[in-house]
Amino acid sequence: MNKKEYNKAYRETNKERLKAQREANKEKRQAWIEAHKEELKAYGKAYREANKDKCRECTNTWRKNNPLKVNAHNKKHRHNQQKKYRTFINRIKAINGCQNPGCKWVGEFDPCSLDFHHINESEKRFNLGSQYHSKAATIQELKKCCVLCANCHRQIRWGKLDASLFPRCKIQTERDR
Ligand SMILES: [Zn+2]
Repeated sequence: MNKKEYNKAYRETNKERLKAQREANKEKRQAWIEAHKEELKAYGKAYREANKDKCRECTNTWRKNNPLKVNAHNKKHRHNQQKKYRTFINRIKAINGCQNPGCKWVGEFDPCSLDFHHINESEKRFNLGSQYHSKAATIQELKKCCVLCANCHRQIRWGKLDASLFPRCKIQTERDR
């Protein structure tokens, strides 16, 4: 019997006693955790950094086995998620401005007056900005688009402008690529 097996067997045979012990030391334990919060945080971060693949696999398995908890979490944080998504979308709009080189708009663009235009309509999977999608999916979709002001976008809709030669929108940071 190796150490791991021995420990497991020990825990199994002394289940009740260990449980009582844990219960008795609950407050002490909580206090210790509270006092070492930063250390524990740093340890967890370093561990996850060093075991990236393992952590990802473990997280995925957990998520698969706990769909109700995942759902509840998503529901609770949906508002934040939407807000973050909106901020990201607006940032991309702000970086690019109207990408029609001949745009006649003078002055600064407000994100609300900028649209995403799918340069090749057949590549389109979903509308950007209207509904939350994961960051990875959003970035995939952004790569198919250019940003246009409402004025230029409407001219394209009415066939007065051709967007096929317009540049595709820039996605700023290394993380967003
Ligand atoms: Zn424009």
